Amino acid sequence: MPATILRTETGSYCTNCYIVYDKNNVGVIIDPGDEAEEIERLVKAYGLDIKAILLTHGHCDHLMAAAPLQEKYAYPLYVHRDDAKMVEECVLQGRIIGLRCAKAPRVDHYLQESEPLTFGGLSFRFLHTPGHTPGGVVILCGNDAFCGDTIFRGSVGRTDLPGSSQRALFDSICAKVYTLPDSVVLHPGHGPDTTVQYEKRNNPFVRP
Ligand SMILES: [Zn+2]
Ligand SMILES: [Zn+2]
Repeated sequence: MPATILRTETGSYCTNCYIVYDKNNVGVIIDPGDEAEEIERLVKAYGLDIKAILLTHGHCDHLMAAAPLQEKYAYPLYVHRDDAKMVEECVLQGRIIGLRCAKAPRVDHYLQESEPLTFGGLSFRFLHTPGHTPGGVVILCGNDAFCGDTIFRGSVGRTDLPGSSQRALFDSICAKVYTLPDSVVLHPGHGPDTTVQYEKRNNPFVRP
């Protein structure tokens, strides 16, 4: 049975937080951007047993609710090694971009392409997609891909930030995203869902 996906927009950057769960209500939280109370409310309302927090990358608009959730529930947090320092420095990062990030979450594990993860009936694979940040990943679960700020419907992530590289981003999109099956649904870090096929045909920034 495919996973069920809940989406809630969080914080002043309208960052998409996704909660993915299986038929037994075992799930994970992807990018808890902000509004820990709202995420907690959803988890309780759907009776979910959350096993982990997975981050697509280390920008603080994607993780400000992680520390308060960990304080209450001790969820283990996973991020790519190359963005771990960014996560640890998220309070400073927030100050620079005008977001009030009270506390950095605890990084418990590194996400790697070579190490798929299973939680309950959910299997996840990770594609390292540097460019927007050095340690950005696309998180794959069946026919769904959670792509953070690598690609959006009709757009791509910023590359004018410290640690960004436009060339690396375009390479990541061509080599890792556009090579997925056309039918894969892309769930970006901001804005509406799209598909691999739609972006290959319509994305004005990166052509396959
Ligand atoms: Zn970002
Ligand atoms: Zn973002």
